[in-house]
Amino acid sequence: MKKLAYALGALLGLMSTTAGAWGNHTLAAYRALEVMPEVVNAAAVTVEPLEAFLKSEEKTIEALLASQEAWAAANLEHYPPRPAKLAFTANADRSDEARRLAFAHALRIAPNSKFALFIQPDPRTATGPGPRLPSEAVTTLPMLGNASQKFQPVKAGDSLSALAVVATAVDEPDYGLDINLWDDSPSDWGKMYGFGTLPFGNPVLPYSTQAPFHMGFMHESKVLYTAAPFLKRTFPQLRVYQYSTLASLAFRTGHPYWGWRFTGLALHYVEDLTQPYHASLAPGDSTLKLLAANAMAMAGFAGMKNDMVVLLSNRHLALEKYQSELLLNSALAKQDTPIDQALRHADKDSSYPEWYDLYLRNVVAAQAAGYGSRLAQTLVASVPAGFVSDPAFDFGTQEDKIMLVKELATAQPEARARLDALVAELLTNFGSHSRNAISGILKASNR
Ligand SMILES: [Zn+2]
Repeated sequence: MKKLAYALGALLGLMSTTAGAWGNHTLAAYRALEVMPEVVNAAAVTVEPLEAFLKSEEKTIEALLASQEAWAAANLEHYPPRPAKLAFTANADRSDEARRLAFAHALRIAPNSKFALFIQPDPRTATGPGPRLPSEAVTTLPMLGNASQKFQPVKAGDSLSALAVVATAVDEPDYGLDINLWDDSPSDWGKMYGFGTLPFGNPVLPYSTQAPFHMGFMHESKVLYTAAPFLKRTFPQLRVYQYSTLASLAFRTGHPYWGWRFTGLALHYVEDLTQPYHASLAPGDSTLKLLAANAMAMAGFAGMKNDMVVLLSNRHLALEKYQSELLLNSALAKQDTPIDQALRHADKDSSYPEWYDLYLRNVVAAQAAGYGSRLAQTLVASVPAGFVSDPAFDFGTQEDKIMLVKELATAQPEARARLDALVAELLTNFGSHSRNAISGILKASNR
């Protein structure tokens, strides 16, 4: 069993080094949320530094963070309790910096997280390049050379639309908040957080260390969990609960800027889990095939397992690359495409249960995990075989040079149409669940 767990861990290790589920979440969020009256009709908000919010609501935050811990212990499987000394305790005499550090420790997020004051303007409506913050002011992680993120500085007291605040914050959890939180992480804080060692992946690769917060394997077969119990140690549900309840607190106590910003942070994890490759270990591969590949590997024939790992990773990356290229192209062209329409398509929102504490697991992740074989088949049929069906090709190392929209222009029209329809369907889910989460947060905030 140990060996099997090790082999499955290697499988996840290779899969989880990618940056984000859907590329720049902000581009998608502007389209998904611009049709939501509660967002576009919300009053403009005044920018407030994190330190000011924490100072003014210290007592209510102390109570909320204590109740979050109780909720997590009661509701999350395999929840590693937060060490008691990390509890957030109000203390009006401490410095702003000490209070902010205590807040990061109590949430068990990276204490060097920037929480900068900025927005990503909507490329649809942006005029001219405008002032820019260097990425180091916003994120602790290196940005890819071709990253679409543009950070525009704002300052305390500025007035912003709720849409700009929430759409900006949905991308923020990929800026280093969940990096190096483990016992075996190369950081000062990982050892005191009590999350244990990194459940899968390589502890020295930064993106690997955030994966267990941005992926959730909550609908695998019993036999897989028995073979590899670490599959259950994923925590996106914790983050959604932490940030959504902080959002409600901020709204209720008169800090709408932080209300919308925490809402965006919570949404990120919901959106990540709409990506089938973030919600299941091996979309399109049966448990039997996984076990067989591992058994062969243990017998000294690792070929089948290695091929499977590479193909899963390549398909995962191809899907994200294609979708993010489409979205960026339409944003830059300032033109509506089926992708934008899919994100706005709200007809199905009410077909889901109303938002509740375990919606992420029971609705979002369950739905995404169900796409496995259809998604894998569609990718194989639509994307040139060299990218998704050749185990000798490493998509990850070539990604910067690949232009999938261009590559697919010469693909069979019906095959491409099937992929486009599937991407549109996944982005409709992205939009629906984002809006349903906002409705739930606003309801809990009595707004
Ligand atoms: Zn993410």
